[in-house]
This record gives sequence, structure tokens and C-alpha cells, in this order.
Amino acid sequence: MLDNGEDTRTAAERAKRIRFLRKLILFSIAAACLVPTCLCLILAIKYDRTRNTLEKAKSELAWYEEQYGDTALSKGKGEDKPLIEDSEEASDVVAQTETEVTLESNAAEPVKTDEEVSADNPDEKTQDILNNAEGSESETDGIRRVYITFDDGPSSKTNEILDILDEYDVKATFFVTGKADSRYTDVYKRIVDDGHTLGMHSYSHRYSELYESLTSFQTDLHKLQTFLYETTGVWSTCYRFPGGSSNTVSKVGMKDLINYLELENITYYDWNVASGDDRDGITKDMIVSNVMAGVPKFENSMILLHDASDKQATVDALPEIIEEVQKLENTVIVPVTEDTLPVQHISNEQ
Ligand code: ZN
Repeated sequence: MLDNGEDTRTAAERAKRIRFLRKLILFSIAAACLVPTCLCLILAIKYDRTRNTLEKAKSELAWYEEQYGDTALSKGKGEDKPLIEDSEEASDVVAQTETEVTLESNAAEPVKTDEEVSADNPDEKTQDILNNAEGSESETDGIRRVYITFDDGPSSKTNEILDILDEYDVKATFFVTGKADSRYTDVYKRIVDDGHTLGMHSYSHRYSELYESLTSFQTDLHKLQTFLYETTGVWSTCYRFPGGSSNTVSKVGMKDLINYLELENITYYDWNVASGDDRDGITKDMIVSNVMAGVPKFENSMILLHDASDKQATVDALPEIIEEVQKLENTVIVPVTEDTLPVQHISNEQ
């Protein structure tokens, strides 16, 4: 009886041990599966976050270079960088994706008829200076040519900018992006009708898509060129790279893109006078000061300004910029034309 009792206990303990071992094995298998899965998930999340941070940093860097890209050019000529206050960040990508403020209904000005345009008095000083100048713009004729250029438009500010330019009878250059919203149709048209130059600044203005490959660049370019032609009847042949030709975010070599533009008979223009108007907190006076620190240094001054819904300071600075530039001797404000000697940060000959 005693032996039988011991056998029963031994059997029960063995069964218990077996159950315990079975549970241990199952737990080990489950752990072996779960731990790597969790690790993979954590790593995937971390990878995604890092990639996003990197993309953001690249965009900011490109935007920084769009503003300070003239540094290399200035350094080469022993020039000082224009005075621009530091600020934390300004992402063009953010500016591009943000919802544009609705166009003010009273901002639109009726398009002038041909008669009205010809009845306007031309800027006499500009005409006199140019009449006395000989040769094309690419030749040194002692005349300083100042190009006022606006990137990123059209926006809710474009009509206001056009009103000011009209008031001073000054022609500028608008490097626009593609905005299919019908609110902007008349704005694109007004840029052309008012006699300004319509340049291209990519359809999407998304660095990651635009500079993904030569093909994506070509697709974007033709989309914008066709869109502008259908909207305004103008086949634009001038281009400004988002971030400038010296940007470092492009995954495809910038020289390949420049070569492609050349094949398409498109000239690209960078800038040598940065207004710094994209910086957070920049004031009207700082923009004027930055511009006027740069303009006198060059015979061809290409000023970079922005046409965007949040750039009221740029609009406010414009009259003073025009007035200050017009005070300079032998200086004219002109739009980009086929004869314009382009300001380029890099060229395909380098
Ligand atoms: Zn831009």
C-alpha cells in the first residue's frame, strides 16, 4: 500500500513536471517569436521618424540655400553677404503646402486695355538711360540692371504686388508654381497682361518629387510649361530652380538638369541679392536694407523676393525698394528677357 502510494505521488509529480516543461517550451517559443517582432516594429518606427527628420532637415537646408545660395558667388567675387538676421527656420515645403488665404475680392484690378496701357507714361528715367545705352544687356554698357524677381506665386498677395509695380510703372519677373485653383487663373493672366515676365519655378515645388530623378523633373517642367501656356498663352522659357541651381537636395545631378533645360531652350536664373524675406520675423526695413546692401555691388542685380500669402513684409518693402533703386545712378529696373545675362550659381561648363 505504501509503495503504491509513493508510485502515485511520483507519477503525479512527473506529470506536473511534464506540464511545467511543456508550458516552459510553449512560453519560450512564443517569446522567440514575439521579441524579434516587437524589435522589428520598434526599429521600423524609429527608421520612419529618422527619415522624416532627415527629409525635413533637407528641405530646410534647401530653403536656407535658396536664400543664401549667393554666398558662394559673393565669396568668389570677394563680396560680403547681405545683412540677414538669423531666425530659426523657414520651410518652403511648409509654405507650399499650407492653405492659401482666399483672394480678397477687392484686390483684383481690372485688366487694362491696350489703349490704356499705351496711354500710360513710361518711366522716363528708365527710357532715357536705356535709349542712351548701346548693345544688348549682356554687354557692359555702364548701366546697372536690376531685376526684381518673385518666387513661389501666385498667392493672395500677387494682386497687391502687381498694383505697386503698376503704380511705379516697373516691370518684374514672376517665377511661378502650378496652382490649378481657378482663383489664380486671372492672376497668372494679369502678370502677363501687365507686361511682367512669367518664369517657371516648378509645378509642385516639392523637392522630394521634383529632384527624385531626371524623369520626374522633366514631367514637372512640362506640366508647368503646358499649364502656363494654356492659362496665359505664354510659352515660358525661363526657369528658377527651387532651392537654386546650387541646392544640395537634388538626387539627380544639377548639371544633368541644367543640360536638359538647355536642350529645351530654357534659361535658368539664380539670384545675387537675397532679401531674406522668407525668414521668420523679418521686417520691412530689414528686407529693404538687405536688398540695398546687395544691389549696388553688381552690374546685374537679381533680387530674390517671395510672393506668398504670409509675406506681407515683402509687399510693404516693395515701394521703398523701388524708390531706393531708382535713386541709384545709371540704374534701371527691368524684367528678365532673352537678352538678360543670367545670374547662375553653377553652370554646366564648370
Ligand atoms: Zn521657391
